Amino acid sequence: MSDNQRVRLNTASSGGSGSHESVIFNERVLLLVMESMKWDVQVVCRTASVCRRLRAMARRLLWRELCLFRAPGITETLSNGVHSSRMGGGWPALAKLLFFCGGCESSRNFALSRPKPGHFVMESRFSKTSGRSFLTKRCRGDLLFVSDPCEHRMGDREDDLGVFRGVFRGFRESKTRACLIARQVALEDRDRCPYCGARVWSMTTAGLVPRNAAKRLGSHDGALDYFVCVNGHLHGTCWLAPLSSDEGVNGEDEEYEMDGSDGTGNSSGGVTDGFSDDPTVGNGFK
Ligand SMILES: [Zn+2]
Ligand SMILES: [Zn+2]
Repeated sequence: MSDNQRVRLNTASSGGSGSHESVIFNERVLLLVMESMKWDVQVVCRTASVCRRLRAMARRLLWRELCLFRAPGITETLSNGVHSSRMGGGWPALAKLLFFCGGCESSRNFALSRPKPGHFVMESRFSKTSGRSFLTKRCRGDLLFVSDPCEHRMGDREDDLGVFRGVFRGFRESKTRACLIARQVALEDRDRCPYCGARVWSMTTAGLVPRNAAKRLGSHDGALDYFVCVNGHLHGTCWLAPLSSDEGVNGEDEEYEMDGSDGTGNSSGGVTDGFSDDPTVGNGFK
């Protein structure tokens, strides 16, 4: 039985009295069900796709709880001191960023022989130390998390492609955003953020790619390209050097691994509003 059918059955069996309050729409029950499934991101995607009411509940509650349960460290750091309604791009976008590699298409500064589709990722490592490698000297005060590159094989004659993603805390108040605006860097015409659908700046075009970024990724110097959207999500690509050295890169670090299997997260916390409402972002993250 599909999840859709199951939900329909539940709705049907609990009706009859004219009440709209079926079991699946009870927030407490829904939270317990999700918790029993260790907040499986694909189950939340399917739940949010069933009907408008569940989609609204996912926006208001489920995506935030999923982030807190599956990735408590990074979620609490990103939301610390930032009002929930100002979480750039909303919780569905953050959940997608944490658990979905956006794939890659050719861009103005980065040519590919063919596009690579996005995919779910069950585990990712995000770190602030990686993030610092993507900030120019004058923007070092910003807080940015960047993932390790997800490796995509391109064929025997080509290097492997690395696809990475990241997120700023409080991007609206960041030095990076102030710098982009002060330099009057234009937003890209064609490219959009794969996480929230918003417009993006090309950091390559803006000349804001520090040398350390390539080194951190294990890439050839200059063989990378990345974008930051107006909500502070970062996505990028690089060619991975066949033999990379981690020397001088992996020092003391504050890392957060996304993995629901250890159950170290907890799903406490209040219900908040203010999620983004961008219909352009697919893949069930609604
Ligand atoms: Zn990938
Ligand atoms: Zn975005």
